[in-house]
Amino acid sequence: MSEIPILSSRGLVKRFGGFTALNGIDFDLGAGERVGLIGPNGSGKSTFVNCLTGALRPEEGSVAFSGADITGMAAWKRAHAGLARSFQIPRPFRGLTVRQNIGVPLAFIRGLTDQTELDARSDDILGKVGLRDKAGFSPKSLSQVDLRKLELGRALAAQPRVLIADEAMAGLSDSEVDEILDLLIELNKSGIGIILIEHIMRAVIRFSQRIVVFVAGAKIADGDPREVMQHPEVVRAYLGQ
Ligand code: ADP
Ligand code: MG
Repeated sequence: MSEIPILSSRGLVKRFGGFTALNGIDFDLGAGERVGLIGPNGSGKSTFVNCLTGALRPEEGSVAFSGADITGMAAWKRAHAGLARSFQIPRPFRGLTVRQNIGVPLAFIRGLTDQTELDARSDDILGKVGLRDKAGFSPKSLSQVDLRKLELGRALAAQPRVLIADEAMAGLSDSEVDEILDLLIELNKSGIGIILIEHIMRAVIRFSQRIVVFVAGAKIADGDPREVMQHPEVVRAYLGQ
């Protein structure tokens, strides 16, 4: 990577009481890059995401966005700066329509106030995630895959430069996984750097330009997908699961 990474961490340590969930993570995401982050359950992937997005404060180490230190920056400011994530379990506002769910981040993160503009921008984003025809629906009536799309739409509304998708495909069928993957790859084409955290290896391999592996709070591999998947420690971590 010749340019400054869009997102990076150095020596990131996160402890919960006496337990070390992250033990000194160095990580770089290039602008517009697609990176897969894998590792057994409990290896620290979501904790890492939480430290990157500001939901958690690391005990040691630093996080930088576009070359600027953001280690102590509030989560909402990181969202304004262009760092977005989707959650493992979709959390739509159940009392609002699908369109209004997109309107919330447009209003609060991007500062739009005009209702006509809000609706137009919301529908534009719903078109990108394939939910345009469900704009007036309640999230309660959406299928699992559509809820995942809505979750991505809400992240997109913030106009992110980086999107972190933490297990955005859990519980989906093979064809639904492909739908979400196609969507993520399409978003990446518009220049958004993406970190995909996923257990479905077929999806990770198809998506990733680079794969990073966590085991027990440490990064044990980082590189070309094919080479990483043959790394003895990765094979052991996965067969030993
Ligand atoms: P992953 O996403 O890779 O499955 P997590 O980052 O969710 O792993 O969890 C890493 C470890 O940290 C687990 O052992 C988990 O129980 C622990 N952990 C995560 N969040 C907390 C928390 N808020 N308090 C205490 N322990 C936590
Ligand atoms: Mg997790």
